[in-house]
Amino acid sequence: MIVTPKDVEKIKLGVSACLLGHKFRYDGTHQRDPFVADVLGPFVEYIPVCPEVECGLGIPREAMRLEGNSSSPRLVTHKSKRDLTDLMIEWAKNRLDELEREDLCGFIFKSRSPSSGMERVKVYNESGAVVGHSPGIFAKMFMERFPYIPVEDEGRLNDPKLRENFIERVFVFHRWRHNVVRKQTFRYLIEFHERHKLILMAHSPELLRKLGRIVASGSNGNFRKRVLPEYEALLWKVMKLIATTKKHSNVLYHCMGFLKRYLLPDEKQEMIEVIEAYRAEHVPLIVPITLINHYVRKYKPPYLEAQYYLNPHPIELRLRNRV
Ligand code: SF4
Repeated sequence: MIVTPKDVEKIKLGVSACLLGHKFRYDGTHQRDPFVADVLGPFVEYIPVCPEVECGLGIPREAMRLEGNSSSPRLVTHKSKRDLTDLMIEWAKNRLDELEREDLCGFIFKSRSPSSGMERVKVYNESGAVVGHSPGIFAKMFMERFPYIPVEDEGRLNDPKLRENFIERVFVFHRWRHNVVRKQTFRYLIEFHERHKLILMAHSPELLRKLGRIVASGSNGNFRKRVLPEYEALLWKVMKLIATTKKHSNVLYHCMGFLKRYLLPDEKQEMIEVIEAYRAEHVPLIVPITLINHYVRKYKPPYLEAQYYLNPHPIELRLRNRV
């Protein structure tokens, strides 16, 4: 039986320490983020990371920025022009080894930081003009070392669709790690694929079919060498695609197809009306999902009962109340 996050230890997420309220910024302040600290916090175990403090720079310290070219910028202090790049890189190599042992299922970075920013951190030339953008030095090394671990920054998490997408990826990653990667057995990949079909369909019906073909071509003999790496690479590509209202509507009708034989004509009509209200964006996704879950609990259709799509993450996070 596939395990769920409730069955195992808490999901571990890396996080830029200042987002939890640690006063680690160059000027001794923090950037506590209420969603990260208070809403998501109770459901995960955070591993706080502050590259600038952990690599030995003090608090307070001189502010720094990225300089040079955007493909390989340097980390340089504003006024004294001290180049901290090598210090940061040497520290990060060891820290990434430690983080690998933590089994992280995601990382939330502090936006716009020259050390921790996930994307679009400004890169300056020596005279102070912006010449491009790059991830921060540590964030870039993290993403290169762990290309499949879900990452986001606290700024992007204010967007309800990006927030839902990130948390869903974190929970899928956790199940993937525990049920497939650790067990290294083909039958667990089959079960994982079966139970995530509707989630994957909401991201890309075409790529779901491609994933299905990878599974269909698998066996115990070729599982580790070919099937697992191929499936994993495509899985995280699919999960990054945003599940749109249109794609969710199609999945909801697909769910309805599995309930048709149980529903009375007026119940079918009600379900169509609720799905259409969602498609027109008059009600959020949680409304049709709640109605479908009601019938799944009542009639217990095995296929739908097994689908994580109907309960992908804790309802208390209210993620589907806003998409
Ligand atoms: S942004 Fe990164 S380096 Fe700066 S205080 Fe926060 S965790 Fe530390």
